[in-house]
Amino acid sequence: MRTERFQVRNFINGEFIEPNSGRYLDNVEPATGKPYSQVADSDAQDVELAVAAAEKAFRDWSKKTAAERSTFLLRIAELIERDREKFARAESIDSGKPVSLARSMDIPRAVANFRFFATAILHTESEAHITDDVAFNYTLRQPRGIAGLISPWNLPLYLLSWKIAPAIAVGNTAIAKPSELTPMTAFLLCEICQEAGLPAGVLNVVHGTGPNVGAPITAHPKITTISFTGGTVTGKKVAEACAPLFKKVSLELGGKNPNIVFADADLEAAIDGSVRSSFANQGQVCLCGSRVFVEKPIYKQFVDRFLNKASQLKQGDPLDEQTEQGAIVSKTQLDKVKFYVDLAQKEGGKIALGGSAPQAPNERCHEGYFFQPTVITGLSVSCRTNREEIFGPVVTITPFDSEEEVINHANDVEYGLSSSVWTQNLSRAHRVAERIHTGTVWVNCWLVRDLRVPFGGMKQSGVGREGGEEALRFFTEPKNICIAK
Ligand code: NDP
Repeated sequence: MRTERFQVRNFINGEFIEPNSGRYLDNVEPATGKPYSQVADSDAQDVELAVAAAEKAFRDWSKKTAAERSTFLLRIAELIERDREKFARAESIDSGKPVSLARSMDIPRAVANFRFFATAILHTESEAHITDDVAFNYTLRQPRGIAGLISPWNLPLYLLSWKIAPAIAVGNTAIAKPSELTPMTAFLLCEICQEAGLPAGVLNVVHGTGPNVGAPITAHPKITTISFTGGTVTGKKVAEACAPLFKKVSLELGGKNPNIVFADADLEAAIDGSVRSSFANQGQVCLCGSRVFVEKPIYKQFVDRFLNKASQLKQGDPLDEQTEQGAIVSKTQLDKVKFYVDLAQKEGGKIALGGSAPQAPNERCHEGYFFQPTVITGLSVSCRTNREEIFGPVVTITPFDSEEEVINHANDVEYGLSSSVWTQNLSRAHRVAERIHTGTVWVNCWLVRDLRVPFGGMKQSGVGREGGEEALRFFTEPKNICIAK
């Protein structure tokens, strides 16, 4: 169906093409609640075309030297940086996040992802194992072929580039599927790849829904590597589709992250950090600390100061430079947030802050998907609100008595993505960090990211690690060559 709205088309074999179905889905701007563009509603046939292009491109791309591949990735990074404002604005309109956040976090991080892996491949080492007088072995790490890369809507370019950069840096070709809710920066990235002269078929982007595009990617026998970031329920479906085909799979899934504040913490820093980790990107970061635990002697003081600081967050039009809290990504997500706030009250929680939609910041945003930063107290640690991922600007605060007790609370959920611990006692920091079941533990900080460190979750928060050396290993196949002496 043709309309006057801008149409986000697929990028296959180096060209922008119509989806096989000829159909497009409306792409809604969360701040206004109105469609502002359209996105290709692709299907398995489009995935098939992308596979053919990626398979053909793999022959040459995998044979290029690391230095040659590096040059392309560096050029892509440079061009995204040149267009930083355009990307930041597009990300803000598409996802509802404040433009200042997109400019300071999402887009610079996408640039960093390309730069990091462009240079990482120039500094790799390989192992050799000497078998006494009999033989020596060395390990070849070769690209695996076509990688399927599926990402969510909360950090669209940030997370997609986190997968694309390592996958193609080591010589794979890729088929990426962004969330259909936030396709715009993936489209801009494809334009940049064209300009950078990335050979046709090295990166293909197929837009559309999870069932129509994501599922065919996970089921395609020629796409042998799957890197998925998204919710745990979808992650299970991805795992089920990949298992019988013995695909190599990395799953980065949901979280219900504890944020633990001990009485000896630097309170100012703990409050600043906790407000940020509760509400950054409207609480729609998988690493957000949605369960805050505070040691009893400072509980009241902490809650008062936390509420005071959170109530000062400036909600507004995401395109307004002053805005700190933008819109929720979709009506569905907004309804989910409302559902959990209602549930929290039924479970005996007290709304200490927020709890409803704010007044529209301006005429343009009259029908946008906004929700106030919300703080809930008085809940039991075992209630649903404290166990299930909400993925919105909702945080619970719960007092605790002892280290042992709070470690149990922290671990008593199905998720295990990340955690924060605030204390000035170094021994306690080490002790607690060692016993918390999460893939990342931040001590006296939150969201400090070094691209070299392993990133991923435990339990229902995922399988495998990405980042640095882990990503280079994930996207390659180790082969042992044994040579007799
Ligand atoms: P979803 O799991 O709904 O979707 C993630 C991606 O998978 C989307 O592109 C989606 O397409 C696609 N998809 C849906 N169904 C299938 C399927 N059957 N097969 C293959 N792909 C499919 O997650 P959200 O987009 O709602 O993102 C929010 C979730 O992501 C939260 O749970 C959050 O915690 C998690 N997340 C985890 C991170 C981590 O690093 N651990 C980082 C960021 C987010 P479509 O958009 O069409 O549904």
